[in-house]
Amino acid sequence: MIPIDEALRRIEKNLPAPAIESLDFRSAHGRVLAEGLTATGDIPPFNKSAVDGYAVRAADVRAVPAELRCVGESRAGSKWGTPLREGEAISIMTGAPVPDGADAVQMVEKTRRSADGSLVTILSGVCVGENVVLRGSEASTGKVILEPGRYLGPAELAILAMFGHRQVRVFRMPSVALAATGDEVVEADQVPGPDQIRNSNAPSVSAQLKLLGLEAEYLGIVRDDRAEIRRVITEGLRRDVLILTGGVSVGAYDFVKEILLEAGLEVIFSGVAVRPGKPTLFARRGDRLVFGLPGNPISAFVSFELFVRPALERICGSVSAGLLRIRGRMSSGAKHKSERTSFIPARLSWNQEGWAIEPLPWRGSSDIIGFSRANGLLILPQGTRAIAEGDWVEAVLLPDFWQRSPRWKPEGGGQ
Ligand code: AMP
Ligand code: MG
Repeated sequence: MIPIDEALRRIEKNLPAPAIESLDFRSAHGRVLAEGLTATGDIPPFNKSAVDGYAVRAADVRAVPAELRCVGESRAGSKWGTPLREGEAISIMTGAPVPDGADAVQMVEKTRRSADGSLVTILSGVCVGENVVLRGSEASTGKVILEPGRYLGPAELAILAMFGHRQVRVFRMPSVALAATGDEVVEADQVPGPDQIRNSNAPSVSAQLKLLGLEAEYLGIVRDDRAEIRRVITEGLRRDVLILTGGVSVGAYDFVKEILLEAGLEVIFSGVAVRPGKPTLFARRGDRLVFGLPGNPISAFVSFELFVRPALERICGSVSAGLLRIRGRMSSGAKHKSERTSFIPARLSWNQEGWAIEPLPWRGSSDIIGFSRANGLLILPQGTRAIAEGDWVEAVLLPDFWQRSPRWKPEGGGQ
């Protein structure tokens, strides 16, 4: 058994370098950028009005109210072409080019137009540059706008579109195969026999992969039989990553490790000092990786979050992979003797004092029903005996934390 940090170090050391592909930017949401991108033009491309109102010369409205001749209109998409002269104003819309000769815009709320529209009274003065977004003030041609390693979320997609970066180099997503082992396991659409249970791990691990934007190829249920396990490992090694659940413990029918070794894989570790997730196994052959997760539903879930997620994030080119840790105070006490670092299902909430962490009652590694109310995991370091209300502790946010949490109440009081 190795400590969790050592397991994470070994995983990181054995990851293949992320591969790169070129994609249409519209398909690049959720990817990590593999190149730096620069501004192909100035943004804004012209001096732009930030409000609906009147383009003026600031000098003309130093004394207010000031009556100006309204001589034209500058609309978004079509600039008023004649330069503004002394004593004149141009009606202007948000996003429209500021006409030459004007150096400020007064918002429509601070003006009054004459009935025939020929005059406008500016009721309040403006400084030079007021309500004008200068050409190139947000980005000037050639400036780096996105660095390599940037995650492409909604804002980044807007930037790609804005500069016409239609084809982008991003890190490739790995192909992932998934299989569940166990003589007792049947699929969810079957009626289990008296000694059988339904396969809950494949659906939950598939969903965890989906949260990473990955679609698993499901290879089905594998019997605790050497030949069958051999067959699924051969099949799975055609993908970048194979994830197996069950069969990695020390039972008489836990054959996964044996068959991996026999198939020429290097087992980088098997057994981590963590609870749940102790039997977790990690192996590789060349650039192909295998994760063996324990069969218990919660062990499989937690083990995925601790070990598989950071690995897959790195393969997808993410710079800062790892657990989303927060520090907060226990909102109740708990007795937990942990001879291994433990991850306890918890409700994390936010109040005026910061994070509050409430461990949830659960009945051990197979109690997925108790576990399912969690939006985070309380970390109890090895050797912890008991924790009291108000103690400072660390916790991990689950990846769908926001969806699992009622919205914050701004006035405090948690959730
Ligand atoms: P194992 O890691 O194979 O020793 O399995 C540990 C426990 O998890 C046993 O109680 C299994 O019945 C259960 N288990 C194994 N595979 C699955 C699965 N795919 N879905 C639900 N429970 C499972
Ligand atoms: Mg088993």
